[in-house]
Amino acid sequence: MATFVVLMGGPGAGKGTQAKRLERELGIPQIATGDLFRENLQNNTELGQTARKYMDAGELVPDEVTIGMVRQRLSGEGRSQGAIFDGFPRTCPQAEALEALLAEWGEKLAVVLYINVRRDVLLQRLAGRWTCPICGRVYHVLFNPPKEAGVCDVDGGKLFQRADDTEETQRRRIDVYFEQTAPVLDYYREQGMLVEIDGEQSIEEVTESLVAAIRDAT
Ligand code: ADP
Ligand code: ADP
Repeated sequence: MATFVVLMGGPGAGKGTQAKRLERELGIPQIATGDLFRENLQNNTELGQTARKYMDAGELVPDEVTIGMVRQRLSGEGRSQGAIFDGFPRTCPQAEALEALLAEWGEKLAVVLYINVRRDVLLQRLAGRWTCPICGRVYHVLFNPPKEAGVCDVDGGKLFQRADDTEETQRRRIDVYFEQTAPVLDYYREQGMLVEIDGEQSIEEVTESLVAAIRDAT
């Protein structure tokens, strides 16, 4: 059976960083709704057009749009190797939809991992985040700098700052997280599915804790 895992945590908690490391370590593909929306923006699809105004404002894209996109991503061969969900679900209706989708295919979530990071640390992380346009790896000017400033270690891509990483949008995204996504943590906690990880450890230590929790659950 394929392994399905959810990574939760505020904007800047390290979900993308860790999902990429887990993908390599465990061979389970990352499904990041933020990345899927950004791909749609780049390709100027209708879905991208719809998502743009919400993303620019730091608000959540409506549930039906987000759920439809995830359903499509998982259809057909798209789920045979399982998934590490990064940034999804972010609302209780999304969590319920995910459960129903997996159940349709006789699958279920193995575990939900909460990368816990305090608000002021989230802000510091977002402020220094730079992303590779080719592979999607994220760096931090202070905490995780590339070997050569502005250049991806792996493929030489020219690093960029995300359009929604302005100070105002960062603050709004963190507020939206505490208002709208924190209830999803309670939802999973009540089901006994939530494992909390200290997200203020080093990147390597967080990966070790996550891998241990996934191995425990599978
Ligand atoms: P971060 O890495 O900072 O947490 P993401 O890349 O996950 O940000 O998301 C960027 C934006 O994409 C969000 O601010 C939101 O507008 C949209 N988005 C991503 N995932 C979801 C989701 N599950 N539900 C609604 N909107 C989403
Ligand atoms: P998210 O996907 O949850 O929004 P990212 O993976 O994009 O978070 O990480 C946000 C920023 O914090 C990036 O600049 C990343 O390099 C940095 N970062 C991630 N994990 C850690 C960590 N454990 N310690 C210090 N910095 C980190």
